[in-house]
Amino acid sequence: MRLLLVEDERPLGNLIRQGLEQAGYKVEWATDGDQGALLATEGGFDLVILDVMLPGRDGWSICQSLRARRDPVPILMLTARDAVDDRVKGLELGADDYLTKPFDFKELRARVRALLRRGNVNRARVIRVGDLEIDTVSRRVSRGGSEISLTAREYALLETLAASEGRILDRETILARAWPDPDGSGSNTVDVYIWMLRKKIDADRSVKLIHTVHGRGYVLRDDHSSGGGGGSSGGNSGRAGAGGAEEQVS
Ligand code: CA
Repeated sequence: MRLLLVEDERPLGNLIRQGLEQAGYKVEWATDGDQGALLATEGGFDLVILDVMLPGRDGWSICQSLRARRDPVPILMLTARDAVDDRVKGLELGADDYLTKPFDFKELRARVRALLRRGNVNRARVIRVGDLEIDTVSRRVSRGGSEISLTAREYALLETLAASEGRILDRETILARAWPDPDGSGSNTVDVYIWMLRKKIDADRSVKLIHTVHGRGYVLRDDHSSGGGGGSSGGNSGRAGAGGAEEQVS
């Protein structure tokens, strides 16, 4: 795994690089925005860690040009403390996650791992669950071909659910992934946003995609198509068409 780190603060950059190298990643470190943009453009990275305030080009501009080129590389932004606007801006520009300075290295490592796991999904660019389509680059969401307008938080929640590829996520995990800086939000925040997301994604649809798994959490899954819950050993390639076997997963 090859990571690009763009960070101008030397002590912090050193710490991040050493820590990530010890965790087994190869790290290229750029100490200004121009160098960072150049390396990012060359590509070949599995993840980009981008500081916002940099000499030369800033982190926003680098993030924006990667997404403008439809480069799906996962991007983790390092934002200034309490800069809520920064995080919203990052989401809109296509960053995948944020870490607010100062942060604990363990936290960074956890985010890096999660993003690298999601990276495999992101590379597909468009995640499909039933007739729901999530374009992870343009952040457009549609169901049955009609576009659904989501707020940044609703989108983050939906993509978090989609990225887990049919696995159940508990509220704490959802909170940690979709709300990188929860500001004291409790797990009931997740319930509220799930409720809002359901109204947009599932209301008036016969096939529901967001499922509550009692005592465990939530899962985004099309129980009416193949691959929902495993256990089928028949060569069921791709999506079951009309008349395909229905597999009910509770
Ligand atoms: Ca900086």
